[in-house]
Amino acid sequence: MRVNDLTSTYVRVALDHPLPTLFDYRCDPASAPKPGMLVSVPFGKRHVVGLVMEVTAHSDVAVDRLKSVDVVCTACPPLPENWLQLAQFAADYYQRGIGEVALPALPQALRDASRWARLFAPEERYRLLSAGHAALPDALPARASALRRLAQALAQSDSLSAVDARALHPKASATLDAWQAKGWVALDVIDPAAPRPAQGDTHPNPQESAQESAQESAQESAQATPLPTLTDEQAAAVDAIRDAQGFAPFLLHGVTGSGKTEVYLRVLAGLLAANPHAQALVLVPEINLTPQFEAAFRARFASMDDTAIVTLHSGLAEGERAHNWFAAHTGRARIVLGTRLAVLASLPHLSIIVVDEEHDPAYKQQEGLRYSARDLAIWRAKQLGVPVVLGSATPSLESWWQVDQGRYGRLTLSRRAVADAALPTVRLVDLEDERRRGRASVEGLSGLLIAALKTRLERGEQSLVFLNRRGYAPQLACDACGWVAGCPRCSAYVVLHKPERALRCHHCGWESRIPRSCPECGNVDIAPLGRGTQRVEEALAGAVPGARVLRIDADSTRRKGSAQALFSDVHAGEVDILVGTQMIAKGHDFRRVSLVGVLNADTALFSHDFRASERLFAQLMQVSGRAGRAGLPGEVLVQTRYPTHALYHALARHDYVGFANSTLAERRDAHLPPFVYQAMLRAEGRTLDAALAFLQQAAALLTEIPAASRVTVYDAVPLTIVKVMHVHRAQLLVESASRAALQATLRAWQPALRTLKGVLRWSIEVDPLDI
Ligand code: ADP
Ligand code: ZN
Ligand code: ZN
Repeated sequence: MRVNDLTSTYVRVALDHPLPTLFDYRCDPASAPKPGMLVSVPFGKRHVVGLVMEVTAHSDVAVDRLKSVDVVCTACPPLPENWLQLAQFAADYYQRGIGEVALPALPQALRDASRWARLFAPEERYRLLSAGHAALPDALPARASALRRLAQALAQSDSLSAVDARALHPKASATLDAWQAKGWVALDVIDPAAPRPAQGDTHPNPQESAQESAQESAQESAQATPLPTLTDEQAAAVDAIRDAQGFAPFLLHGVTGSGKTEVYLRVLAGLLAANPHAQALVLVPEINLTPQFEAAFRARFASMDDTAIVTLHSGLAEGERAHNWFAAHTGRARIVLGTRLAVLASLPHLSIIVVDEEHDPAYKQQEGLRYSARDLAIWRAKQLGVPVVLGSATPSLESWWQVDQGRYGRLTLSRRAVADAALPTVRLVDLEDERRRGRASVEGLSGLLIAALKTRLERGEQSLVFLNRRGYAPQLACDACGWVAGCPRCSAYVVLHKPERALRCHHCGWESRIPRSCPECGNVDIAPLGRGTQRVEEALAGAVPGARVLRIDADSTRRKGSAQALFSDVHAGEVDILVGTQMIAKGHDFRRVSLVGVLNADTALFSHDFRASERLFAQLMQVSGRAGRAGLPGEVLVQTRYPTHALYHALARHDYVGFANSTLAERRDAHLPPFVYQAMLRAEGRTLDAALAFLQQAAALLTEIPAASRVTVYDAVPLTIVKVMHVHRAQLLVESASRAALQATLRAWQPALRTLKGVLRWSIEVDPLDI
């Protein structure tokens, strides 16, 4: 044997495996990895990628049972200690194994050892030099369009990767070699792991560099648009964040259109200029909002090189995501803009975190590790001793309560930033009254709303119609016998989708053709019940003749990039009426929308979920906030059968504070979050009885756990949609006024739960949002 056991080194490795333990491997002491490094190891019959947590001189596992590490990924610098602590915290808090947290947090490409070599290979980038600027494109033959495209691409960006160049022109390599020989372009070979050079010395050749930067700054000043003068409230917010020392959580409560983005931009500009290494993390709730933000950030930070701003979200191709993640990890990226998953990025010089629209439920991951990106952002800021800014027009009650307690600083933007832009007027359209007066409505669109839409069309202004239900109709039913089309796999009705002429289950994806007649009684008069976005789109086209109607929802934007194209059409003024789901409600800065119509909001008023009204209020405030952003007087029409409801009255007064305070008082009286801490045990079984029986046994186990004496256990109940894909689902809620008691209980409960049988799956969710 080559290695003497006494001098062996062992590593303890986290693997993506449900057992919350580390796995020991042997390794050659000469090439032992460091903690935080990735390794490929044998596991059962496979080879998997793991993360080294510890390097030790001994292992409790018998030496002859230990296998050896296959490969150490030396090209990737180790994940820093503070990142490993973050993963450990998330694992403990959300009751998972460290490996189940740490590995899924890494880009998929990094978790495949066979891709390491290519991932970390040096990147070749071509850069246009001044001589090239002068000579191209005149030097090119008139008809050489591919060559012209290549020249154009070089001129329009700081540098062009060899891969992108080949995509533009099949013989790009030869051409670029020739151009390089003429002194038109330079080739930079960039080690992906190399730290980013300090600003100003990105050009290897000093002579070239002086020329180029003179040219660059001339270009910059020509392009620079003057910064808007901050409003007093914006200036006060920027100062407060800038002056903060150490961990400083802020709630930036700014009405819609108050210019929260400008506050983020100014704060980041100051911070990044003051510290040449500082990194900023900016979270947005939806992928669809990243392009708008990215454009604003790139425009503002145009003097930083292109690679200094990266995005991280699930819509990126795997290679790109790994590339961007790596740029963050090596410190090359200064600004990381992303959705919730970006909160788990490795950022060695993280100096500030922004969570825009912090109230948004999309910050909660709904599968696997069910974490709250907002909560982890706050934990990270505290760990690092840096500021964190939570922005929203309708803060979550959790955050609002923290402000009340004096734990977060409050920054208020009470007015819209654009001069003359006021908050819109909100009118409640009483549907019952409309009916009594015999006013005509078309397919659920009230006469008042139709008239308002026509006025906007005549004035050349845009309107937005919001309803939170996609498809054509939520049900297809037979009047004669009462049959309603249901999903054979779920306890749910199927939704009629007209363009595809299909019935589709929104829970499992099951699809079928629309039957010609009732399968129960043969009646041919089967009819759609209720309305979704497709039906409203159709109705609008008829009710407002001449209007260009565009629908944006999960169906119309299924293809990659199509949401962006549709939103661009709206911004370009090629749409008169935009109809859609919550996708159109959030964050977008529509400049020409002056009317918002809200359909079918009432259903959420009477939900059994105690968070439904908070969510509805936030959604309606957000969608209302799309109207009148750029000075056109805005109007919001909310169609309702409950025009006296307190929620609508608060909405009409734009009274978030009143709504939040009264809702918090109700929560306190009813002992609901944020006044108690909750966790949910969910079970999935072949039958509902099996799932319920599991949960009852689970509840019985709690009597053995001392900490559980401070925990309230509710009855096991079926989920609202009890069956999905033939699997029956039930849940058990546990809660406590003490977070520590709840955490201790969950920790002690898990090993006991693992011994129970009878269900297909179970999981614990901490701080569940959907009850
Ligand atoms: P919010 O995120 O608060 O809803 P935005 O950041 O989208 O608002 O800003 C709304 C609009 O106001 C944007 O078009 C932005 O360019 C503009 N804006 C922001 N700050 C100012 C300012 N100080 N002066 C003029 N316009 C501003
Ligand atoms: Zn029938
Ligand atoms: Zn189904």
